[in-house]
Amino acid sequence: MKLFADYHTHTTYSDGRGTPAENIRAAAGRGLAAVAITDHGPRGIGIGVAGPETFLTIKEEVAGLADSFPEVRALVGAEAAVISSDGRLDLPEEIIGQLDLLLAGLHPYYVPDRLGDALCYTLPNLAAKLSRSARAKMRNANTKALLGTVYSYRVDIISHPDLMLPADPDELARACAGRETALEVNTGHHYNKEEIVRAAAYRGARLAINSDAHYPETVGDLASGIALVERLRFPAEMIINAVH
Ligand SMILES: [Zn+2]
Ligand SMILES: [Zn+2]
Repeated sequence: MKLFADYHTHTTYSDGRGTPAENIRAAAGRGLAAVAITDHGPRGIGIGVAGPETFLTIKEEVAGLADSFPEVRALVGAEAAVISSDGRLDLPEEIIGQLDLLLAGLHPYYVPDRLGDALCYTLPNLAAKLSRSARAKMRNANTKALLGTVYSYRVDIISHPDLMLPADPDELARACAGRETALEVNTGHHYNKEEIVRAAAYRGARLAINSDAHYPETVGDLASGIALVERLRFPAEMIINAVH
């Protein structure tokens, strides 16, 4: 299987170490035809962009690079954070509407929409590390939050589902299949991705295999994701960045 794009990379505008130009150059070096700059939304604590308008600055910068890298199509998106128990994201629709693609995902540390949400969502997720019943309860809450996001926004990709903050792969896959939202196989983090791939296959949801690169060196480093979907015989035509 061959992939033509990496739809999830970070730059110095959020918590990445490379500039947009460095990420695009790295993608060209890997022979990719497309790469997306998808920095964190503004509410991620210690990782987010300065403000929602930062994405417009990135867009301008990336547009100015088009002539330097004619072989790579560079997209500008965001990896928005889910900031409430009903799935609100940390970006306004005015900004989302100007992006080439929208990734959304659960992250453990963010500025919540309301204090109540911080209590019923962030803190119990930390507590979930302690007890099995708390973990089951929070898995439900996380799943509900992500489903809220999937149904309220036009999300292209759910980033790293089931990483650190557990969510029900089957329910997620079912919702994503109905909304044409892809589930991510994230090669930048080590965690169990099999359940997500199996659930996507069962429910007919699409996948995206992305690096989540925070360094230019790992842009397009997608081999472990390819190996996983090949081992599980997931069809290439259901992977949004696969050549088929
Ligand atoms: Zn993330
Ligand atoms: Zn990311």
